[in-house]
Amino acid sequence: METHITKRALAAHLAGERRQGRTVGFVPTMGALHEGHVSLMRRARAENDVVVASIFVNPLQFGPTEDFTRYPRDLEGDAHRAAEAGVDLLFSPGVEEMYPAGTIATRVELGPIGETGEGRWRPGFFSGVATVCLKLFHVVPADRVYFGQKDAQQLAVIRRIVADLDIPVDVVGCPTVREPDGLALSSRNAYLDPQARRTASAFPRALFAARDAVAAGEGSAAGVRWVVEAHLEREPALRLQYVDVFDPVSFAPRERIEGRAILAGAAFVGGTRLIDNVEVASQIGSHVPEQKEMAAG
Ligand code: AMP
Repeated sequence: METHITKRALAAHLAGERRQGRTVGFVPTMGALHEGHVSLMRRARAENDVVVASIFVNPLQFGPTEDFTRYPRDLEGDAHRAAEAGVDLLFSPGVEEMYPAGTIATRVELGPIGETGEGRWRPGFFSGVATVCLKLFHVVPADRVYFGQKDAQQLAVIRRIVADLDIPVDVVGCPTVREPDGLALSSRNAYLDPQARRTASAFPRALFAARDAVAAGEGSAAGVRWVVEAHLEREPALRLQYVDVFDPVSFAPRERIEGRAILAGAAFVGGTRLIDNVEVASQIGSHVPEQKEMAAG
């Protein structure tokens, strides 16, 4: 595996690969790699001649009170994991490489898809994500890009900008990798002490209970929210920030569940904010198979 820290060096290398007609798969990440990231890299390895992964903690998508400076960073460990997962080229630029002028004047502006769900609680977050991904898609001209269903709204945003801005790339959504107790793998899980870690698994369990309720006939978002809240009553150390039902494509909130939808939310355990989601499917209008989940390890 080769590591590049400049756009120019990476672009030169990739131009050579593309001249030889080799296909390129790209996995953008913020590093602190875990089995969730690795599953994306393996999938890219299986489907492309050349696999590129990026590690960039993007300041543009962090709010002023968020964890940009303390976000976990481990470039050496990440390089190891990426190489083992079959990555050929690792791109790990510094902030000055991605934003040489310190700031940028041009940003991707999103409509309602950036303002619902996570966007309500993290203003500007999806615009920051979309902007850096658009830059990265230019730096890494790929045939396929790989994103996790763990961040379902982010995946929907990426699909949307690719369609709206005619970006010539296929977006591949990959299943959420979970710990045996259900907690979705996340770089931020490193913030959890052992007790908080035990508490955290109540959140996915509540979402799974709600998914079962929908399969058993619960058809309203209010009913689903009630199931989640009732489950979490036994966990006072976990504070639910929101949980709602969303359209899987537009991420518009839905009051009725007909066919496939995404149940997504955020919860705090101590100072750590967890996000998670599951696909729910009611029998009414449902023809699409359930979203797959994967076990870690
Ligand atoms: P991040 O480093 O958190 O920005 O994540 C980089 C990519 O990995 C995103 O596409 C995420 O959705 C994906 N990802 C993160 N956690 C998981 C997980 N537990 N399972 C599958 N994909 C994941």
